[in-house]
Amino acid sequence: MQALVTGANRGLGLEVTKQLVDRGFAVWAGVRDAAKMPELGDRVSPLRLDVADPRSIARARAELDSLDVLVNNAAIIGAGDGPVLDCGVEAVRVQIETNAFGPWRLVCACADLLRASPRGRVVNVSSSAASLATMTDIGAAYLTSKLALNGMTRMLADALRDDGVLVNAVCPGWLDTEMGASAGPGGRPVSEGAAAVLWAATLPDNGPSGGFFEEGGRVVPW
Ligand code: NAP
Repeated sequence: MQALVTGANRGLGLEVTKQLVDRGFAVWAGVRDAAKMPELGDRVSPLRLDVADPRSIARARAELDSLDVLVNNAAIIGAGDGPVLDCGVEAVRVQIETNAFGPWRLVCACADLLRASPRGRVVNVSSSAASLATMTDIGAAYLTSKLALNGMTRMLADALRDDGVLVNAVCPGWLDTEMGASAGPGGRPVSEGAAAVLWAATLPDNGPSGGFFEEGGRVVPW
């Protein structure tokens, strides 16, 4: 089975890559800078991929001849983000470009391969902070981008349902990564955060699609 993980060189993406290899996957490690990707053995192949750049997505897609699992993990936070009254739409636009348009473009580019797979799975790494049920004003750009990603998860799940491709959003929880540290110390280890992603990446054929989940398949309210 062949997987592609975006933002695979550090943080959650690196851990997910390692755990997919442990489960027997070959992994395309999507990275902006191949020099930043640690050597993980012959089942991991670095793939130059900037998800905010449509030409980079097209070039990366041209390298692939099969794909079973796509993990849309790469994302950014910060850079002008802030409360909704102060943030400004330009900061929102920048984060949407990476966090929502990137995954959207990538799924579109890879849809033919996912459809051809006997077990196509798309995992959109989102955040429970973007749950409408509990949302607070902690960062308008990031939350808006993840809201868009969640909506896209529903649409893509619908679009790919008849082909057996399961598309879900997951929240890994607050993690001890570069991004997680922007909220202060105390995030949990990536080894635990990866559990929700691995769960959605390895769902059985009768598993859910179009949902929002955390570890153990627990439902996160939209
Ligand atoms: P991180 O430590 O900041 O790592 C982000 C990764 O994304 C890096 O590999 C980075 O590559 C890559 N990336 C950023 N922009 C990219 C682009 N345009 N194209 C390709 N790669 C790009 O973040 P993380 O904590 O591991 O977060 C992983 C996922 O979990 C994200 O979707 C995040 O929103 C979600 N999440 C995280 C937390 C948390 O507490 N950390 C909580 C909930 C959800 P470079 O090294 O090149 O910058």
